[in-house]
Amino acid sequence: MITSLTLFLTTLTVAQGQALQVGYPNEPGLQSIMVELFEQRTSFVQTDQGWIAILGVDVDVQAGSYTVDISFTYSDGRQQSRTQTIEVLSKNFPTTELTVAPGYVQLSPENQARAMVESQEINAVYNELNPASYWGESFQVPIPGAIDGQNFGHRRIFNGEPRAPHSGADLSATTGTEIHASNAGNIVLAKDFFFNGNAVFIDHGLGVYTMYLHLSKILVRVGDFVERGQIIGLVGETGRVTGPHLHWGARILNARVDPFSLLPPVGDNAKSD
Ligand SMILES: [Zn+2]
Repeated sequence: MITSLTLFLTTLTVAQGQALQVGYPNEPGLQSIMVELFEQRTSFVQTDQGWIAILGVDVDVQAGSYTVDISFTYSDGRQQSRTQTIEVLSKNFPTTELTVAPGYVQLSPENQARAMVESQEINAVYNELNPASYWGESFQVPIPGAIDGQNFGHRRIFNGEPRAPHSGADLSATTGTEIHASNAGNIVLAKDFFFNGNAVFIDHGLGVYTMYLHLSKILVRVGDFVERGQIIGLVGETGRVTGPHLHWGARILNARVDPFSLLPPVGDNAKSD
């Protein structure tokens, strides 16, 4: 079970690029809770410990105060709504310079077209809101015992050209290392992409996705349901890489967040750089 929740109704503070797991106590007659942040809507899930929602603050959201709208529906038809402030704190992301094969920076017209189609395909997946939720258990690191992955949000320069911030955590591992699903979910993409190489995308429901990129081998298919910890592929160095590693990413309601911020207890795993 997800533990150590931030209780709604207290002041919420969260850094850029972090997931936020929030809770609300069980209350007689309470039937559903909807929440809206950054124009994205999701619902709370009821558990024995109370109601839980997972929200995300994109890595590029400006620091400052934002409004969260919460609406409560009761079994007798009563509706209540309230707003709450969320304080987004700025985080200093270092700049990393990387050298990759020139074709990954100056794209050929064919690769340019391919990358554009693939990016639309991926965005279409993120824009689907699966109303189910499969994250009743805690999220886990996909390579047990991995100790690095500190480079989420780094500003990146490839072969001297600035590119988008790093949207995941890179875990060092040798080619062939087994990769375990961070949590249960549906496989929504599993194929070779131009930048991502062999990649697996898992839909955990209610707008929460995790991604596993640059694999040497994919061991699942689109439509498969995987359990938390199930092996989904092997580490490799396909796509735009400088060597073998696992790029582990997370999206929450279309916000790019550090996947480590999904791990319990929230905050303790947040890196301080
Ligand atoms: Zn990466």
